Amino acid sequence: MLGKLLFLTALPRLLGLAAVLPGSLPSGLPAASSFDPLHAWAGLENAAHLEAWVNGHLAASQAAVAQLMAAKELPTVANTLAPYDRAIAELSLASSEAGLMYSVSPEKAVRDMAETLVQRVSEAAVALSLNQQVYRALASIDGTKADSATRHYLSRTLLQFRLAGVDKDEATRKRVQQLQEKITLHCLTFGRNVQEHVNTVVVNDPAELDGLPADFIARHPATADGTVKLTTDYPDYMPVMTFARSQTLRHQMFLAYNTRAYPANRQILLDLLAARQELANTLGFKTWADLATADQMMGSAANVRSFLAELDTASKAGAATEYARVLDFARQQQPGLTAISADSSLYWYEQYRTQVYHFDSQSVRPYFPYDRVQQGVLDTAARLFHVTFVANTHAPVWDASVTAWDVYDGVSAVPDKAAASAPLIGRFYLDMHPREGKDKWFSAFPLVPGIRGQQIPEAALICNFPGGEADDPGLMQYSDVVTYFHEFGHLMHAILGGQQAWAGVSGISTEGDFIEAPSQMLEEFFRDPALLQTFARHYQTNEPIPTEMVERMDRASAFGRGNQVRAQLFYTRLSLDFHDQPAADIDPDAVMQAGYIAALPYTWVEGNRMYASFTHLCGYSSNYYTYLFDKVIALDFFRQFDAKNLVAGPEALRYRKLVLEPGGSEPGAEMVQNFLGRPQNMQAFTEWMSREFNSY
Ligand SMILES: [Zn+2]
Repeated sequence: MLGKLLFLTALPRLLGLAAVLPGSLPSGLPAASSFDPLHAWAGLENAAHLEAWVNGHLAASQAAVAQLMAAKELPTVANTLAPYDRAIAELSLASSEAGLMYSVSPEKAVRDMAETLVQRVSEAAVALSLNQQVYRALASIDGTKADSATRHYLSRTLLQFRLAGVDKDEATRKRVQQLQEKITLHCLTFGRNVQEHVNTVVVNDPAELDGLPADFIARHPATADGTVKLTTDYPDYMPVMTFARSQTLRHQMFLAYNTRAYPANRQILLDLLAARQELANTLGFKTWADLATADQMMGSAANVRSFLAELDTASKAGAATEYARVLDFARQQQPGLTAISADSSLYWYEQYRTQVYHFDSQSVRPYFPYDRVQQGVLDTAARLFHVTFVANTHAPVWDASVTAWDVYDGVSAVPDKAAASAPLIGRFYLDMHPREGKDKWFSAFPLVPGIRGQQIPEAALICNFPGGEADDPGLMQYSDVVTYFHEFGHLMHAILGGQQAWAGVSGISTEGDFIEAPSQMLEEFFRDPALLQTFARHYQTNEPIPTEMVERMDRASAFGRGNQVRAQLFYTRLSLDFHDQPAADIDPDAVMQAGYIAALPYTWVEGNRMYASFTHLCGYSSNYYTYLFDKVIALDFFRQFDAKNLVAGPEALRYRKLVLEPGGSEPGAEMVQNFLGRPQNMQAFTEWMSREFNSY
C-alpha cells in the first residue's frame, strides 16, 4: 500500500508548504468585487477568473520583493524579512490554490489553466530563489536578538537559497532556472496523466465477482450486454484485490491499475530524472538524492541507505515467517499452488486472517458507514486536541459535495455556540469521494497557513472514499478508516501549527521528512476498542461494534506487518534508486522488477508498470523514505500515551503543544527531543512490526 500523500506542489524548496496572506487585501489583486483574496474557488466562473486571481497574487509577491530591494537602510527583520515573508506568502497561496484547482476542479478548462498557473508560480518562485540581491539582504540581517522562530526561519531560508544555487554565476543560474521549469512541467504532466487516465475492467461473467461484498455487487449491476464494468478508481480497485475469488479478475484489475498512465509516463519519468540529475550536478551534488536530502532531518542519501539496511534486517525474518504461513494456508485451499503472486497477496492475506484470526474484514464494513466514520474521526480529534469543529455552511466550496468546517480552540459543551466563546483558529474542507477528473488518491492540501493575529490557517482533504451518493451508505474497509485518521493528522498539524508570526514557518512547514509523523501517529488511535465504539455502529441496526470483534480485528491486522514494511521498503528503494544513479543508465522496468524481487516474496507479475502512476516521485522525489522514517518517530510518540486512557490523558495536550503547535518554527529533531526527552529509536517500531509473533 502506497503511503497517503501530503500534497506537495512541484515547487522549489524555498516555498515549503506554507501559504498565507497578510490581513489586508494585497495591492496586486484585481479590483473585481467577485474576487475573494483567500479563496480562488469562491465565485470562480471560468479559467480566466482563476488566471486573474493567480496573477493578482503574483503581482503582490513582486511588489513585496520590490519593497525589500528598495530599502536603503541596513537590512533588518522588519525591513527585509517581513517583506520577504509576504512575498513567500503570496507565492504559496497562489501555488496551493492553483494546485488545488488542478486536482479538484469539475471543469477541465479550469484544470488545464491551473496546470499552466502552477507552472507560472513555480517560475516566479525559482527566480526569487536565485535573486542574489534578496539573498544578500537576508544574509545581512543581524538576527541574534530575534526570537528563536525568527532565527530558525532566517538560517533555514539562507540554507535553502544556497541549495537553490543563488551563489552561482549568471550562466549557471540561468541553466538552473531552465531545469527547474522543466522539472515542474514534467511533474505536472505526470500527475495529470494519472489523474485523467482511468482504466476499465470488463467482467464478462458476473460470477467472476464472487467473494466481493453483496453491496459492492449490487452497486455494479450488469449492463445491457451482460457485462459488468469496473474502473481502476480506488473504491473498485481495493475490494477486488482484497475479496475477489477469481484470480483472473484480480489479475486483470492488477494490470489495469498498474498500467495507468503507461506508456505516456515512462518517457516523462526518464526526462524528469535526467533534468533532476543535471540540476543536482549543476549545483555541485553528485546525485539528486544528495541534493534532496541536504536540508532534511536525514541529512544525506548515504544515511537513507543505512536506515534502509537497518529496516531490511529488522523486517526480514518476520516477513519470511509470515509469508510461509500464508503460502501454507493458500496451498491447503488451492493444492498445487507454488507461490503467491503480486496480484493475489492482498486476497490470500485476507483469507488467512479470516481463517486463523476469525476475522473477515467484510464483517466490520457495516459498522463503518462513511458518515459515522467522519463524525467519529472529528469527535476523536476534537477530544484529543481540545478543539471544537463546527460545520460552516456559508463558506464557499468548489463542488456541492464539499463541506467546510471551522475550528475553535478549546472544548465547547455546545459546539454550535463555540463561535461565541472560543477563538477561531482555522478552517478545513472535506472533499471525500471520487468525481470524474478529480485526483485519484488521498491527500491533505495546506491552503492558507495562518499568521498569528492576522490570518487563520486553512487546509483540505482530497480523498476517494466509498459513499457520497444518496443511496450509498459508503461502507468502508478498516484500512479506509485508518487512512481517514492519517489524513486528519495532517489537517490537525496544518491548523494547530498554523498560529505563527511568519508564513514561512506556518503549518506543515517542517523539514519534508518530518511531515508524515503526525499523520501516522494518529493512525494508531484507530486500534482502541473504546474509542471505536464511540462511533462505529451498524448502519442498519445502530448496534456498536462488538469489543470482541475489534479485538479480533486488531489481532488480525497486526498480522502481515513484516511484508507491509517490506512493501514500503520496495517503494522507498525505488524512489531512491531512480535518483542516486546516472539517469541515462536507468531502465525503469528493470530497476522496479529487481527492487520488487529483492524486497518482497510474491511472484512478479509481468506487465506491472506501477512506476508510471507513482505520483510520489513528483512530490517526494527520492525521499519516499519519509514514511518509514516517520513511522519510527510516530510509534515512538504513540508509545508515550497511556494505552488505558488514550484520548483524555495528559499526553495529548503535551503532544499538541510540543509537536504540532511549533509548525515549522523549530527543527524536527528538536521537537522529537522535546516530546520524548531523547532522540527517537527503533524500539517501538520493532515491537509494532513483530507484535503478532510476540503477543498471540
Ligand atoms: Zn500522509
